[in-house]
Amino acid sequence: MKILVLNSGSSSVKYRLFDGTATLAKGLIERIGEQDGEVADHEAALQRVMSSVDLAGLDAVGHRVVHGGAEFAEATLVDDVLVATVERLVPLAPLHNPAALSGIAVARKLLPDVPQVAVFDTAFHQTIPPEGTTYAIDASLADRWQIRRYGFHGTSHAYVARKTAELLGLPSATAKVITLHLGNGASACAVDGGRSVATSMGMSPLAGLVMGTRCGDIDPTVIFHLHRVAGLPVEEIERSLTRSAGMQGLTGDNDMRSVEHRWEQGDPAATLAFDLYCRRIKEYVGMYLAVLGRADAIAFTAGVGEKSPEVRAASLAGLTALGIAIDEDRNARSDRIISPEGAAVTVCVVPTDEELEIAGQVAAVLSR
Ligand code: AMP
Repeated sequence: MKILVLNSGSSSVKYRLFDGTATLAKGLIERIGEQDGEVADHEAALQRVMSSVDLAGLDAVGHRVVHGGAEFAEATLVDDVLVATVERLVPLAPLHNPAALSGIAVARKLLPDVPQVAVFDTAFHQTIPPEGTTYAIDASLADRWQIRRYGFHGTSHAYVARKTAELLGLPSATAKVITLHLGNGASACAVDGGRSVATSMGMSPLAGLVMGTRCGDIDPTVIFHLHRVAGLPVEEIERSLTRSAGMQGLTGDNDMRSVEHRWEQGDPAATLAFDLYCRRIKEYVGMYLAVLGRADAIAFTAGVGEKSPEVRAASLAGLTALGIAIDEDRNARSDRIISPEGAAVTVCVVPTDEELEIAGQVAAVLSR
């Protein structure tokens, strides 16, 4: 099947054209609508894509949509009802969903005869039981304002958990896997028999692990304090916790490569940030081992997870009593399996591929 995958951001469009699992073309159009950008808007961006790749015989377009709320538990064919529902969810993802909606609108206009499928970052986590998604706040407020954990990076967690089960030769339906997606954004997920049962991001992608520029878990009182005592307006607090927190806030640097470089030189801020980043991962691994009862595997993925032996080693250090260990040489080479022979828990490095997973889900929707 020939499938075009579009990931429309507020100022960028990433695309990849598949024939089955083979990539025919890919690219990124950036700074949309900016003065020095290549194109004026999403329509011009998609026109650019259409003129640079051969879309003859295209079977479908797959759109990455960040927030599917509680409404979407799987990839879904785009129609007017879907568009209206995603529009209703804009308050839950004010930065992300409008961009996806422009991508969808433009693709429907320019490719009216091609089926369009929306693939949601949140969908995979719809299997988490209510005790894993409910916040212990006034239930009527939560209900009225759609406040709950949704979780994100679902496409990546689903793909990596499946690939990990394959790597271990286990049926996906019984494997217990903890997936650690450590990129610019970062999240952990407990996957039981191919179903998400716990994840670290929450109502938004701000919760959980320490990230490049996002704070991860904090006491909500931090927000009241910054507002009431420090006098910051709520928009400024949101900006700070989203853009100037995490590794950026702790070190002035959001790139893990620079933080590690400074850590090796003994820089105190970088050392604290590195230790805090890895400790938070360890805390989530402990929690998810408890949720799952045991784990067949722990899988590292995305930029940091795939490329930093230091983060992998520090995050799982001292866990041998739980059957978790890392082989130094395998880890240094970023082998697929980095735990020693015979370890109770297999520790793996599994490169993620969200676009390939989106294309696979689109193909599955079309063959229903
Ligand atoms: P992603 O969002 O998956 O593209 O991951 C981006 C993150 O991966 C950035 O924070 C990079 O600093 C980090 N990264 C990329 N290469 C390395 C590396 N060799 N060592 C540590 N972090 C890396």
